[in-house]
Amino acid sequence: MVKKRGANQHKGGKPFLEWCKENGKRGEKLANEFREELPTKLAKGSDYKAKWKCGTCSHVWRAAVKNRTESVRPRGCPKCANRIPVSKTKNFLAWCEKNGERGKKLSREYIDPDRPPTAVTYGSNYKALWNCGTCSHEWRAKVFHRTKSNSPSGCPQCNIANRRHGEDGCFV
Ligand SMILES: [Zn+2]
Ligand SMILES: [Zn+2]
Repeated sequence: MVKKRGANQHKGGKPFLEWCKENGKRGEKLANEFREELPTKLAKGSDYKAKWKCGTCSHVWRAAVKNRTESVRPRGCPKCANRIPVSKTKNFLAWCEKNGERGKKLSREYIDPDRPPTAVTYGSNYKALWNCGTCSHEWRAKVFHRTKSNSPSGCPQCNIANRRHGEDGCFV
């Protein structure tokens, strides 16, 4: 028996390319970013994880077609999402610039590989990667634990060392 090709074409709604044509600039962009061989076979609401290539940064990634076409919070390029500053004034780097020596120290210690300092807020719960300026220890801590004004957290390694040497300033 020959299975009719395209029998399931309408599962998940309209064919993807048709949807693109009807969605102006946004549809055009998605059609351009689409890197799968046969877009004609996919429906707009398909679960299929298609390949996409970002028109802005050329990053290639996979995402379900429906995640890109849905009208509520569609997914875009993950790389670009990381690069966009969360807020001009509330991002971590802006906070550092406003907080003198302490800000300088924190911005030096922030070495998170996944999110640039402009992509997190200073009050974020995100567990970023830090590198201690004193002992070079690397650890993860929530951004807001380090920026808060009431007993901010520091390097756990140094904390242990400080405790061992008592409070008389005999730091390592
Ligand atoms: Zn991108
Ligand atoms: Zn340390």
